[in-house]
Amino acid sequence: MNEYKEALEHMVWQFAYRSIDKDNKSILWTGGLFALEGAFNALGWIDPHIVEDFDGGICDVKGCSEWVEAQGGMWADTGYWCLCRIHADVARKGEPQPQMKQRAIDREVSRDPITKCLPMK
Ligand SMILES: [Zn+2]
Repeated sequence: MNEYKEALEHMVWQFAYRSIDKDNKSILWTGGLFALEGAFNALGWIDPHIVEDFDGGICDVKGCSEWVEAQGGMWADTGYWCLCRIHADVARKGEPQPQMKQRAIDREVSRDPITKCLPMK
């Protein structure tokens, strides 16, 4: 990828709106903003751009496609979870922890037992 396209993609990731669509898929979208529409066109992306589930970006709760807005301190006895606003509120209300995605469980199991750091990739 050339450096201009890479820089444009970074800007879109930083500034595009984050939401979920009617099919519960995570999306980046332009919100009708001209500059973002131009960037999506230059990247060859359709609006909305569907984003696959990924660690640190999409909520760790199984079945949830919302974007991460809070990390750590919730259900902290079982891990350092990355949660959307909805599930962060559930945790803050003291409700039981729902089932987490396998990728999140695998991540938490991989932490160093003493430092709690994730392994270097
Ligand atoms: Zn969630």
